[in-house]
Amino acid sequence: MPVHIDLERLRRTLDAVNSVAATEEGGVSRVALTDEDRAGRDLLVRWMQETGLDVRVDDLGTIYGRRKGAEPDLPVVFGSHLDSVPNGGRFDGALGVVAGLEVMRRVSEQDIQTRRPLELVSFTNEEGVRFEPAMMASGVLAGQFTRDYVYSRTDRAGTIFGDELARIGYRGDVEHRLPGAVAFLELHVEQGPVLDTRDYPVAIVEGIQGITWLEVTFTGQADHAGPTPMALRRDAFVAASRLVAFVQEMAKRIGGPAVATTGRCALEPDIINAIPGRAVISVDVRHPDQAGLDEMEAEVHRLAAEAADAEQVEVAVERIWSSPPTSFDSQLIAVLERMATRLGVPYHRMVSGAGHDAKYMAEIAPTVMIFVRSLGGYSHCPEEDSDWQDIEQAVTLLLNSVLQLAT
Ligand SMILES: [Zn+2]
Repeated sequence: MPVHIDLERLRRTLDAVNSVAATEEGGVSRVALTDEDRAGRDLLVRWMQETGLDVRVDDLGTIYGRRKGAEPDLPVVFGSHLDSVPNGGRFDGALGVVAGLEVMRRVSEQDIQTRRPLELVSFTNEEGVRFEPAMMASGVLAGQFTRDYVYSRTDRAGTIFGDELARIGYRGDVEHRLPGAVAFLELHVEQGPVLDTRDYPVAIVEGIQGITWLEVTFTGQADHAGPTPMALRRDAFVAASRLVAFVQEMAKRIGGPAVATTGRCALEPDIINAIPGRAVISVDVRHPDQAGLDEMEAEVHRLAAEAADAEQVEVAVERIWSSPPTSFDSQLIAVLERMATRLGVPYHRMVSGAGHDAKYMAEIAPTVMIFVRSLGGYSHCPEEDSDWQDIEQAVTLLLNSVLQLAT
């Protein structure tokens, strides 16, 4: 028999955690390690304690609430993050945390005894907008960053991460870090339009797209816009513009999940009556598998050379950052698919276009995500919205999957 959630309680809980950080525009600002972040954390800790969970905070400020299992096994872990971008949405991150709390409350009030422990987690600084990089605390758990590196990060005002963590009272103990997990499940809003367009309430997420950032520099000859005949020009911006169009055509040609964006352009001398001698553009390419990502990067090199040739300019392509694709655990995906079918929850399978703590958690534990439809696809803005019927289906799927994995 499936266990059901208390949707009204879930909604009240999300409203309460958002009320401490509400903005005039209808969004939330619960930026990492601010007073609003602390207020949200304090609520969560109180709710965890009221639910009878054993609460602990690790040295990165990540909050855990554990419910004992019958056996001292590794836990089934679920959760997300409470921090937001400035004037962000009401669901991003917070929904996954309060959904996990609803799981704990339900299990507790129905007195369900699981074999494995259950653990609700709320990660510090997923967004990385105040202190870069993003997904900082889960990154430390996965060995991507050291604690010293994280503690020494500063925001634009020069405030130090380690100091702010202590100031808000959440600099805990290294021994409180997650010891491992038999499974990690993160429920999150999709933050894109796929589910809304295809009319599914929920997705079972197969993985996270790989991302490569390239910087392409075209060097021609700056010159006067008047006396220089068209045939004699070496216009770096015209070459860059060719590449912008080539890159878009490339992504369409490769098709499927491939996406490519040229979002930034800097020109020199950048004045109205001069031929640009130098143009630097960024290229962001994304693909769910490494071979696809590598193919796109190689194509950008080839197309940049073609664009440069056409305008008689020089070109250099530099990779400035890359994040490999993540594949979630196929057995966990299968568990969730069977559970969704049993519950009658219509679901779509898809790859995430955005990064999540689940990306780093996948390096240390079998991991899967559940997405909830984002109405209109909006996110990181006050317009971010989801339907409560969709949320009910997603959280019911989370609850019953957790119980199955913990039994
Ligand atoms: Zn998020």
